[in-house]
Amino acid sequence: MSVPAFTSYLGIEVERMDNGEAVATLRLAPHHRNLRGVVHGGVISALLDTALGAAVVSAIPKEWWCATTSLAVQFLEGRSDGLLRARGSVLRRGGRVAFAGGEVRDEAGRLVAAAQGSWHLWPHHPGQPEGSGPSSPWVVGKNTGERLRVGKILAVGRNYAEHNKEMGNRPDAPPVVFLKPASAIVHDGGAVRVPPGVGEVHHEVELVVVVGKEGRAIAEADALQHVLGYAVGLDMTLRDVQAEAKRKGEPWSIAKGFDTSAPVSAVVPRDEIGDGSGLTITLDVNGVRRQEGNTSAMLHPVAALVASVSRFVTLERGDLLFTGTPSGVGPVAPGDVLEARIEKIGTLRVVVGSD
Ligand code: MG
Repeated sequence: MSVPAFTSYLGIEVERMDNGEAVATLRLAPHHRNLRGVVHGGVISALLDTALGAAVVSAIPKEWWCATTSLAVQFLEGRSDGLLRARGSVLRRGGRVAFAGGEVRDEAGRLVAAAQGSWHLWPHHPGQPEGSGPSSPWVVGKNTGERLRVGKILAVGRNYAEHNKEMGNRPDAPPVVFLKPASAIVHDGGAVRVPPGVGEVHHEVELVVVVGKEGRAIAEADALQHVLGYAVGLDMTLRDVQAEAKRKGEPWSIAKGFDTSAPVSAVVPRDEIGDGSGLTITLDVNGVRRQEGNTSAMLHPVAALVASVSRFVTLERGDLLFTGTPSGVGPVAPGDVLEARIEKIGTLRVVVGSD
């Protein structure tokens, strides 16, 4: 793995495990020694900081960051040459803090030093604001609370025969793929803001696929391995704006991509849901059922959609794929409460406001 410049300058090599453990090794050289001729305490500290810090990194999601906030080192034996090996492991982890411990031993297995420390954790780049604004949209794990930064949002239209019919299309009309900007994300409990003077705004309840692993031209048989989990989503649509754009033969990006057009629930891992089929999907507006369907009615199931979209667009961790809506779409008005539900995944509740 790559290591920071300072670690590399010292000659430290790091092996990071996937289970909250890490090993850092250093072949001692003359420039590592102090005036007494043994390895400098700063070098030992750096070796331990590296091993324990790498252990913390291995225990947090890829997009998270961490920084050492304390490191207490006990120096036991001086060494002047040979190989030193530091082992670190995470002792305990909270929401924003991790505690790690470890030790350094020489080639003969003799204890040279031991340390414990604490690390501050960030679910986003420390130099950027926390992901509540459009600059850094995110989705959250339902049970873990962990945040995943959203990349691009892909969406499929015309994936349920009954919806195709209500839109005046053939039941077996081929699906259409479009994009929404990540800045369109709204979370459970949030508000859809309708821009002024846009005519009808429609609800479309949809199963959302959250991508966990990068891939392009993914084979349908491998597609589910790229799925991290699923969420409940609403593909909010400025229907009149879209119809006008269609009539003129112009793109309808704004109709699908306006701010707050992509409410998304918390994410449930794929192991709990499987291939995304067989799930009841509903939408209530002010307690009245408007849409009801089953994801098994998709014309193109999740694996097929992932495979076909990835032929053209590389899928990356944090990308979302809206998979189309069952029939029953219709207009909403300011003050309406939308409650979208998908079996086994959960509920997404948003209110409609005006901009
Ligand atoms: Mg849709």
